[in-house]
Amino acid sequence: MKAAVVAQGQRVNVIEKTLRPLKHGEALLKMQCCGVCHTDLHVKNGDFGDKTGVILGHEGIGIVQQVGPGVTSLKPGDRASVAWFFQGCGHCEYCNSGNETLCRNVKNSGYTVDGAMAEECIVVADYSVKVPDGLDSAAASSVTCAGVTTYKAVKVSNIRPGQWIAIYGLGGLGNLALQYAKNVFNARVIAVDINDDQLQFAREMGADLVINSRNEDAAKVIQEKVGGAHAAVVTAVAKVAFNSAVDALRAGGRLVAVGLPPEAMSLDIPRLVLDGIEVVGSLVGTRQDLVEAFEFAAQGKVVPKVTLRPIEDINEIFDEMQQGKIKGRMVIDLSH
Ligand code: NAD
Ligand code: ZN
Ligand code: ZN
Repeated sequence: MKAAVVAQGQRVNVIEKTLRPLKHGEALLKMQCCGVCHTDLHVKNGDFGDKTGVILGHEGIGIVQQVGPGVTSLKPGDRASVAWFFQGCGHCEYCNSGNETLCRNVKNSGYTVDGAMAEECIVVADYSVKVPDGLDSAAASSVTCAGVTTYKAVKVSNIRPGQWIAIYGLGGLGNLALQYAKNVFNARVIAVDINDDQLQFAREMGADLVINSRNEDAAKVIQEKVGGAHAAVVTAVAKVAFNSAVDALRAGGRLVAVGLPPEAMSLDIPRLVLDGIEVVGSLVGTRQDLVEAFEFAAQGKVVPKVTLRPIEDINEIFDEMQQGKIKGRMVIDLSH
């Protein structure tokens, strides 16, 4: 089968691979599609260590072909997902307290184990969430990482109906953060990006206030226009966005860090203390978060913008992503 594999020199090669036989508890998916997340770009660039040889991909949707011994949660014909949270240990304090993505022995698709950017993929059946009927596979692929991550981040922000939430970075993740914040949590949304095309798209998606932080001081505008945001979700891959988001909050506000620029942000300690600012990281979502995120998309509250591309375009897609040229999500079509 064809697979997109991390190669030397920050490249990805599309090569032929053969998967091993299934073990106890595993299922084999025939992949339909897999979205390209900015995390895949970090992985292939070696931002989180050298990953040469791994099959990329953690926004995968496929049909169960075969199940191994002991599998009861999936059956052949089911449509199921391959998410970044591939498997937890199942018995630690994190796994047992609704924080399974923080498991210290976690496995991640397209990183610690071979992922979904391939014609076939092995999953641990109990960790692969089924896709509800009525949600098409390309849209579901986007929800599998971008959707669940931002749905969870907005949950973690503690935003309440009518409050202001600033979304920094309106790319693959950010445009879904906007839609979950607005259409599920009933918040008022401020969209901040450095790219006018992304902001135009954010406006079409219902952003209440749109700011290009290349031309304007976003924090200043947010303080002046709405008295500061109650929360901010930062998906931008730049520390300047994190720093601006702290300044954009009102007293008692909460910054949820989602983007992963490999750098440090600056935090003014008096600002944190005197204004009671909170800064918290949020990592993808649990299986239950994904069930919920899928359900809202199936109800039409969140509509991912997706463009299908052949697997051979993978390096081109990464170049476009690096240059900030992608609107919504590029999704590798694995069904043809
Ligand atoms: P993307 O490339 O599709 O979008 C990034 C967006 O940020 C673009 O619209 C870009 O124009 C904008 N941007 C860049 N610099 C900015 C700035 N200074 N201010 C405001 N906006 C700016 O990327 P994506 O797929 O949405 O992923 C975003 C980040 O989230 C990546 O670092 C990725 O690894 C990370 N991520 C984290 C999690 C998690 O669980 N925390 C999950 C998935 C992805
Ligand atoms: Zn991702
Ligand atoms: Zn665990």
